[in-house]
Amino acid sequence: MIGPLLRLEPAEGADIRLPVASLTASSTLDFPGRRAAVIHLQGCPLQCGYCEVSEMASPRRGEPGEWEAMRAFLEARPDGLDAVVFSGGEPTLHADLPRALEQAREMGLAVGLHTAGPYPDRLAALLPRLDWVALDVKGRGRDFALEDLERLAMTLADCGVRLYAIQVARVERCRDPDYCLPVAGAPPREALEALVRRLRPHFERLELRH
Ligand code: SF4
Repeated sequence: MIGPLLRLEPAEGADIRLPVASLTASSTLDFPGRRAAVIHLQGCPLQCGYCEVSEMASPRRGEPGEWEAMRAFLEARPDGLDAVVFSGGEPTLHADLPRALEQAREMGLAVGLHTAGPYPDRLAALLPRLDWVALDVKGRGRDFALEDLERLAMTLADCGVRLYAIQVARVERCRDPDYCLPVAGAPPREALEALVRRLRPHFERLELRH
């Protein structure tokens, strides 16, 4: 289910205000080929039943010091850090995100974004400032067939997407208990593996994650 889309107005000239839910100090999984800090921002306009980070979904206004603390951490460059990823919740919810991205770039860091894409216009405006984007598309077996997944993957390959991961849902922590139940008729592992073999030639890297 999609909730009302929230649009917050930018605050040019004022302190950057981003609501930081958590910081992963160093990750080699969240930005291919980079050692990145991952900043999770609080708030998401969507209400996906399969959301496993629903504690990050409630929006709040960031306090001025929150981004400053992140900036000080990034400037210290611990552990050979060479990138930062803005994640969520939904990071494009926040009007001050472009200014924070710019500051991270000025530090010489590669900048990545994890998004579900609820604000296409904001994402398009951010693209020139980004080195990598992970676009997260989710659903469950009864919402789509494997042919739909294959068509989506081929469309993305045609658009120039080079890295693609298919992840089987983790059902333990879904917001909606209905999503924690087994899906009747879900494709077996063998069908997913066959799909991955068909798609692999079209991507630089294609992963099947369980
Ligand atoms: S887009 Fe992501 S963070 Fe937002 S509700 Fe859906 S799964 Fe949760």
